[in-house]
Amino acid sequence: MAFYVQKYGGTSVGSLERINAVANKVLNYKKSGHDLIVVVSAMSGETNRLIGLANGITPDPSERELDVLLSTGEQITIALLTMALQKLGAKARSYTGAQVHILTDAAHSKARILDIDGERAKRDLADGFIVVVAGFQGVDKLGNITTLGRGGSDTTAVALAAALKADECQIFTDVDGVYTTDPRVVSDARRLERITFEEMLEMASLGSKVLQIRAVEFAGKYNVPLRVVSSFEESEGTLITYEEDGMEQALISGIAFNRDEAKLTILGVPDQPGVAYRILGPIGEANIEVDMIIQNVGADATTDFTFTVHRNDYQKALSLLQSTAKELGAREILGDDKIVKVSIVGVGMRSHAGIASTMFKTLAGEGINIRMISTSEIKISVVVDEKYLELAVRALHTAFELEKSSENVEKTKH
Ligand code: ADP
Ligand code: ASP
Ligand code: MG
Repeated sequence: MAFYVQKYGGTSVGSLERINAVANKVLNYKKSGHDLIVVVSAMSGETNRLIGLANGITPDPSERELDVLLSTGEQITIALLTMALQKLGAKARSYTGAQVHILTDAAHSKARILDIDGERAKRDLADGFIVVVAGFQGVDKLGNITTLGRGGSDTTAVALAAALKADECQIFTDVDGVYTTDPRVVSDARRLERITFEEMLEMASLGSKVLQIRAVEFAGKYNVPLRVVSSFEESEGTLITYEEDGMEQALISGIAFNRDEAKLTILGVPDQPGVAYRILGPIGEANIEVDMIIQNVGADATTDFTFTVHRNDYQKALSLLQSTAKELGAREILGDDKIVKVSIVGVGMRSHAGIASTMFKTLAGEGINIRMISTSEIKISVVVDEKYLELAVRALHTAFELEKSSENVEKTKH
């Protein structure tokens, strides 16, 4: 007997047939004696369809109204799943985010959960109900509907698991766990039995969309046991854990990539104090997030400055940079929105040298030019041309022998 918060993603509830299948699955857990809160996403494609509708009215809908619209996707699924459960004879009730008091800040489309008052859900659980909750949505203190950012149903599930002290938060999806890289790109990618919070956080922030980054953050902070499992087949899935002594440790755990990148360069700016601020200040003020930054060694009292932004912000960043260039008397501006970031991640990097050189040698061997590099303690990222994404990921996957279990890798290395 345990208490689980289970989350079923868009593909898992993508048709009436699949919703019925989820209802059966949930009911089996209930019949085995478990208490259940079930968080669901909108049916696959629905959130994009709603965004399309909004854009059909105006290219620039108000954030408040967009959240009102987008939250309906999940509201459809909770009602349908609850009907399916009731049809099977189960006691079940559905709730929107607001109804279970998922209180967020007011940052529409990327709201953060501040508090959850779980009393209502607790009462229902005690009365034997399966509680079905809409993912991805909350309400701010003024009662406005908010949404939590794409993939945000993961975060709803983890936050509920933390607030109500569930024994485990289970993320049911269309893959049977976290893989060494996206199995859609590398067919022999391998499922990881465990991955540390730290590594999962890096993977998520570097583009692996299997878990929303905030869900991982939340689970790490509140110590929520988190597991990614398949909706469609029986499997242990992947457990996200703290690093333990004696845990099987690979040098590299995984490869993440991000297609949503663009890069901008300003050439020939004066090499003097305050220039970085004058270039990036307006970008930050426009709420554009900057990822990598490179400043060249100055020559002739001028220097070049390159940075990357989300591809959606490319045009806006470019026009801001054009006015900065005029003010600074810069020589030229270059932009490229056909670039991607590929990253290797692993806590094993801390204690092993030579990983970067293996990465660079592998890419060189494939004739892939590296445009930018950035490193941290447990990751190395490179920016390459978009057309090389698949090739780079596959070559690195092979070079680091990620298709083999880490035990094998250790054996071959020593
Ligand atoms: P859901 O709709 O269930 O939330 P998502 O599409 O958000 O599902 O996440 C699952 C998808 O994440 C998989 O289908 C897979 O293509 C992708 N993915 C990216 N990186 C990984 C990885 N390292 N391991 C597993 N899946 C990954
Ligand atoms: N429906 C939302 C999205 O597509 C939230 C989610 O699925 O987690 O991003
Ligand atoms: Mg998702």
